[in-house]
Amino acid sequence: MPSGRVHEAINLSVLGLATAAYWVYRQDLEVPQPVAVAFMGSYLLGTFLITPDLDLAEQQVRAKGRWGWMGWLWVPYGWMFTHRGLSHTWVVGPLTRILYLGAMGVLVYWFFTTLSSYLGLNIHLQPHFKAPPQEVIWALVLGYYASQWLHLIADGIWPDSGRIFANRRRRQR
Ligand SMILES: [Zn+2]
Repeated sequence: MPSGRVHEAINLSVLGLATAAYWVYRQDLEVPQPVAVAFMGSYLLGTFLITPDLDLAEQQVRAKGRWGWMGWLWVPYGWMFTHRGLSHTWVVGPLTRILYLGAMGVLVYWFFTTLSSYLGLNIHLQPHFKAPPQEVIWALVLGYYASQWLHLIADGIWPDSGRIFANRRRRQR
């Protein structure tokens, strides 16, 4: 199975080809720039920072290392998910990481607000979100999923249920 480094190289090569194709056909495609940028951004995020192999985060994996000192955030994910199990499925797998990250974000947010009120500090972390246009949201979802699917294909996992768990017991990346 490909190592983290090979996965990154594969993903980047495909992105390069897609970008070249987009550039050649940009007049016909008429994809607005924010949409293209959103796709690319979340694709890169899924290539370097949020990868299926974070199911090994209790050990040392490349993507975890890229989080720097925040890499420990993924360790419970590694405990929860068997390597190449649910984390390496086509639809639910990528979703587990987003939900996990969201839950972690809520936890960290809760921790800091509780701590600051306990200390009598009047810090209000009130995140202001303005939802981006719908096509940008779709581009974000697509870009992320595309990066995850390429990883699965490189791992030899195709979206037919029979083979999704086929390599489960091999402790390889
Ligand atoms: Zn993998």
